[in-house]
Amino acid sequence: MNTGVAVVTGATSGIGEATARHLAGLGFDVVIGARREGRLREVAESIGARWEMLDVTDSASVDRFCAKIDECRVLVNNAGGALGLDRIEDASVDEWRAMYDVNVLGTLRMTKKLLPLLEASGDGHVVTVGSIAGYEPYVRGAGYNAAKFAERAFSRVLRMELLGRPVRVSEIDPGMVETEFSTVRLHGDAERARAVYRGMTPLSADDVAECISFVVTRPPHVNIDALVVLARDQSGATTVYRREDGS
Ligand code: NAP
Repeated sequence: MNTGVAVVTGATSGIGEATARHLAGLGFDVVIGARREGRLREVAESIGARWEMLDVTDSASVDRFCAKIDECRVLVNNAGGALGLDRIEDASVDEWRAMYDVNVLGTLRMTKKLLPLLEASGDGHVVTVGSIAGYEPYVRGAGYNAAKFAERAFSRVLRMELLGRPVRVSEIDPGMVETEFSTVRLHGDAERARAVYRGMTPLSADDVAECISFVVTRPPHVNIDALVVLARDQSGATTVYRREDGS
């Protein structure tokens, strides 16, 4: 298996942390980045990864992070998330801008910067964590939908533009995954965040990390373009089965 250096953004919690751990377990030389220094160091120490501070919304931070990397086989564009659950008439322009910046422009900044190294590896791979929200719009989701639709467009176009060059492009599009995602989206309201998953069994961060590990360990001629992964209890962005007893 072709391992090499794997960069994972947003690895202080949730899907990014789990992915970094899985890739390290597979023998990748993992480099992780995010904004919370203490957690970044803890995660890195626990899995034997390298770490650097990274804010994907800040071009200077992306430049500093990437300046420490001289080889790269896999880039996992995972840093991102949602802010707010407002109807469009009540939407915060600042939150929409922040979601676009982290999910879309963050992915663009990291990919542009590392593409030369990915290509030079002879078998580069850009994996972007999108969402079912990038396929199905839903009421109160427009800001996040718009960002995740855009992120999917990014992956599709990158795939076309890199055809014939040794870089694979994949998107992993999960449904509900129990991470810090809902707490961040609901501005720290832990009780409302827990209620998002009440009565259903969501995916875990490890479930998604296993999918990413599978995608990056196929032979070089195999490109998994998109992988939509949902909990059994979820069949669409808002179609969720919930047990009446809330278990
Ligand atoms: P999470 O637990 O909130 O993790 C988000 C990660 O992104 C954290 O490590 C956070 O670290 C990092 N991050 C946020 N802003 C950043 C920035 N500006 N620069 C660098 N890192 C940043 O949520 P998650 O569920 O694992 O989310 C990971 C990805 O999965 C996101 O793209 C999200 O949209 C997507 N997704 C999640 C779900 C879900 O239901 N959970 C479903 C579909 C898709 P710091 O705060 O330390 O920077």
